[in-house]
Amino acid sequence: MPQYKAPLNEVFFLLNDVFGLKSLQSLPSFSDLSADLVEQILIQAAKLCEETLAPLNASGDRIGCVRDAGGRVVAPPNFKAAYRAFAEGGWVGLPVPEEYGGQGLPYTLSMLIDEFASSANMALAMYPGLTQGALAALLRHGTQQQKLLYAPKLAQGRWTGTMNLTEPQCGTDLGLLTTKALPRADGSFSITGQKIFISAGEHDLTENIIHLVLARIEGAPAGVKGISLFIVPKILVNENGELGARNTVSCGAIEEKMGIHGNATCVMNYDGAQGFLLGEANRGLNAMFVMMNEARLGVAVQGLAQSEVAYQNAVSYAKDRLQGRALTGVKNPDKNADPIIVHPDVRRMLLEIKSFNEPARALAFSAAIDSDIVHHSSDPQARLAAEDRLGLLTPVMKGVFTDIGFENCVKAQQVYGGHGYVREWGMEQFVRDARIAMIYEGANGIQAIDLVGRKLPRENGRAVMAFFKDAGDILSLHANNALMNDYVLPVQESLDHLQKATVWLMNNAISNPDNAGAASYDYMHLFGRVALGVMWVKIAHAALVKKAQQTELTQVMDSKLLIGKFYMERMLPETAYRLIRISSGAVTMMSMPVEMF
Ligand SMILES: Cc1cc2nc3c(=O)[nH]c(=O)nc-3n(C[C@H](O)[C@H](O)[C@H](O)COP(=O)(O)OP(=O)(O)OC[C@H]3O[C@@H](n4cnc5c(N)ncnc54)[C@H](O)[C@@H]3O)c2cc1C
Repeated sequence: MPQYKAPLNEVFFLLNDVFGLKSLQSLPSFSDLSADLVEQILIQAAKLCEETLAPLNASGDRIGCVRDAGGRVVAPPNFKAAYRAFAEGGWVGLPVPEEYGGQGLPYTLSMLIDEFASSANMALAMYPGLTQGALAALLRHGTQQQKLLYAPKLAQGRWTGTMNLTEPQCGTDLGLLTTKALPRADGSFSITGQKIFISAGEHDLTENIIHLVLARIEGAPAGVKGISLFIVPKILVNENGELGARNTVSCGAIEEKMGIHGNATCVMNYDGAQGFLLGEANRGLNAMFVMMNEARLGVAVQGLAQSEVAYQNAVSYAKDRLQGRALTGVKNPDKNADPIIVHPDVRRMLLEIKSFNEPARALAFSAAIDSDIVHHSSDPQARLAAEDRLGLLTPVMKGVFTDIGFENCVKAQQVYGGHGYVREWGMEQFVRDARIAMIYEGANGIQAIDLVGRKLPRENGRAVMAFFKDAGDILSLHANNALMNDYVLPVQESLDHLQKATVWLMNNAISNPDNAGAASYDYMHLFGRVALGVMWVKIAHAALVKKAQQTELTQVMDSKLLIGKFYMERMLPETAYRLIRISSGAVTMMSMPVEMF
C-alpha cells in the first residue's frame, strides 16, 4: 500500500525562509499569528491526513460510493468517521471569519492543508474542498441573513456544499444552460432542471447539503447574461436554523468513472425545488466565479498533491528495487543487483517530478498569500496588485499544475515498471485520480483561452506587465551574485521567450483570433515554466542564505540547489520550443477541412 508523509519541512522552509511569516503578519487580521501556532496547526493537520485520511484512500477507490434504489448515496466505509474528524478539527472553516463559525486564520494555511489532504485522499478531501468554495461565494455575495443561516454549519463541516453548473447540453458553454427558476410569492424561487456531474451532490457524510445552482429566471436574457445563482438546500432550513422539510432535489444516478471513486459524481434532478437567490439576479456567473476561482486554485493544488504522493512512493521503490548494475560500476556489491535509483533514466523521472513539486508548492503558496492580501490588506494598491497577480496566475496554475501533475503520476508509475500497472502498489490509482483535475473546473484548454483571451488584455495588459516587472526585479536583485548565475541566467532567457510570445500575440491575435486560440495552450505552459523558474530563483537564494548559516540543514539546501539546477537544465528549455510553436500561427491548423480529419 502506498505511504504518505506530509512535506512539513518543505512547507516550513517556504514559510520561514522563502516568503517569511511576516508576509502574513503584516496583514492586520493576522498580526498576532505566531510561528509556534502555525507550526502546531500544520503538524496537527499533517497527522490527521497521514493517519486518518490516507489509510482510506485505496479502499475508498476499490469500494467507491454506492447509490440505492431510493436515491440515497453511501460513501465508502469509514469515510464518515474520517470526514467527521476533519470537520470537528475545525479544518473546513479554517479561513472563514470567526463570526461565521470559522477559525479566522489565513487562507494560506488552509491551502497548504488542502495539499496534505488531497495527497492523502483526494476523493475524501473533495467534500470539504467544495464546501470551502461554496462558503467563499456565500460570504462574498450572500445577504447577512443568508450568511448567518448557512455559513456557520458549512464552516463547521456539519453541512457540505456543492456547485451545480453542468447540464447535459451545457458544459464549457454556460450560455446554453436551461435550468429554470420561477419566482414564488414569498420571494424564493422554484428551480426545475437537471444537472450532471455534480461532485458530492449526494452522500451520507452530513445531515444536509447546500447546493449552489445556476439557473435562468423566467424571462431573463438568453446567454450568460441571464444566469442567476441560487442556494438550494437538500433539506430546507427554518429561520431559526433548524432543519425543516425535505426539498424536491434528488440524485438520479451516480457516474461510473475512471478515478476519485470515493467522491460521488451525481446526476441531480431539481423538481420545483425551493431556491433562494444568491447575489443579484442575472449576475450569477459573477457570483459563481468567486467559487470557481477558489476552486481552480484548489484543483491546481490537487495536481501538485497527486504528484507529491506519487513521487514519495516512487522514490522509496527506486531505492529498494534491485535491477541491473550502475553504468559506472557496481554500487551494491553485497547483492546481485543495484537499486534502480542508480540508473540515470530512473533519476531523470524522479527529478523531473521533484523539480516541479518544489516550485509549484512555492507558487501556490505565493498565490495563497495574494488571496489573503486581497481579503485582508488595508492598502488598496496592494489589494489591486494581488488581485491582478491572482487573476493572471490562476488559469496558469490550474492548467499547468494539473497537466504536469498527471504526467508526473505516470512517470512515478513508470518507476515501478509492471508493478506500477497493477493495483497492489497503488500507483495506478494516483494516475486515475489525477486525470480528472485536467478536465473539471474548466478543461485545461479553456484555462489557456481564459489566460490569453481575458487575463492578458485586461486593463491594457496591466497584470502581465506587472508580472514582467516583478520577475525582472527578482532577477536584477541577484544579477551580481555569481552563486545565483545558474538560476538567474536561464530564467532571464525564458522570460525573454515569454515576452516575445506576448508581443507575438499582441501583434497577431487581433487580426486573426484563431492565432490566439492556436497559441493559447503553449502560451499557458510557457508562462507556467517561467513562473516556476522564478520560484526556483527565490528558493535557490533562500537555500544559499540558509546554507551560509551552516545549520544541520546544509545537505538539504545542497539538494535544493541541485534540483533547481536540474530544472534549469532540463525543464526550463521547453520555453524555446513553446515560443516556436506559438509563432507558427494558426494557418496550417485551420486550413485542414473538417472532412479531412
Ligand atoms: C468527475 C467529474 C466531476 C465534476 N464535478 C462537477 C461539479 O461539481 N459541478 C459542475 O457543475 N460540473 C462538474 N463537472 C463537469 C466539468 O466541469 C465539465 O465536464 C467540464 O467543465 C467540461 O465540460 P464538458 O464535459 O461539457 O465538455 P465540453 O464543454 O463539451 O468540452 C469538450 C472539449 O472541447 C473543448 N472546448 C469546448 N469549448 C471550447 C472552446 N470554446 N474553445 C476551445 N475548446 C473548447 C474543451 O476544452 C474540452 O476539451 C465534473 C465532471 C466530472 C467528470
